[in-house]
Amino acid sequence: MEVIKQVHTIRERVQALRCSGKTIGLVPTMGALHQGHLQLLKASAAENDVTVCSVFVNPTQFNNPDDYELYPRTLDQDIALLETVGCDMLFAPGAEEVYPRQHTLLQFSFGALEAVMEGAHRPGHFNGVATIVSKLFHLVQPHRAYFGQKDLQQVAIVRQLVHSLSFDVQLVCFPTVREEDGLAMSSRNTRLSAAQRQVAPQLYMALKKAEAQLRQNPVPTIKAGVAAYLGQVDGVELEYFEIVDPATLQPVAGLDGMQEVALCLAAVVGPVRLIDNLLVNLNGH
Ligand code: AMP
Repeated sequence: MEVIKQVHTIRERVQALRCSGKTIGLVPTMGALHQGHLQLLKASAAENDVTVCSVFVNPTQFNNPDDYELYPRTLDQDIALLETVGCDMLFAPGAEEVYPRQHTLLQFSFGALEAVMEGAHRPGHFNGVATIVSKLFHLVQPHRAYFGQKDLQQVAIVRQLVHSLSFDVQLVCFPTVREEDGLAMSSRNTRLSAAQRQVAPQLYMALKKAEAQLRQNPVPTIKAGVAAYLGQVDGVELEYFEIVDPATLQPVAGLDGMQEVALCLAAVVGPVRLIDNLLVNLNGH
């Protein structure tokens, strides 16, 4: 696997690949790779001639300086893992390579899509996401790009970005990979103490409880139930819990006429802010 740190090198490689008719799969990540990332990389390796993984802790999408500083960075370990899943190129640029001095941060607007949940609670977050994803799509020119449902709103924003800017890339989305106790895998989980790691699966438990009550109770009751449930868990502070239409991400007032809903939450556990979601098919049992 080739490790590339410079913009001009990735451009050269991609140009040569495109000229020889190879298909390119891109898996954008912030590193500290785990099984959630590896699932995307394996899928890309199976479906494309060449797989590129990007590892870049993107400063423009962090609204909290501590979160950026303390985000886990484990490049040597990432390289070893990438070698096991058939990744052909790692693009791991430094911040100054991606954002040269005196660059201008363009402003995106995603309207209602970003007025809720992560967009509402993390000002500027999706502007940073749209910026880095646009840059990566220009630099790597992938035929397919792989994302996780764990970041449900991100997938919706990137889908809108691709549509609005006519990127010629197919988006592929994979389900959330979980630890055995249900905790959604996340690079930030490594920052939890043993005690915090023990309570963190309660986020998934809360989602499962809400799912079980979905057909029996009105939306406000379910929302209050989740807040009460997590309110009793020491060391967990719920930021939001929403029941939304997965297509628009807008909160629903009731379930009448809905085929599917997404249950989404964010909570702070110790030093870390975690998100999770469940997609629920209402036509199922
Ligand atoms: P990140 O490195 O956290 O920015 O994630 C890079 C990509 O991996 C994003 O598309 C995430 O949605 C996806 N991802 C992260 N964690 C998981 C997980 N537990 N299951 C599935 N996909 C994930």
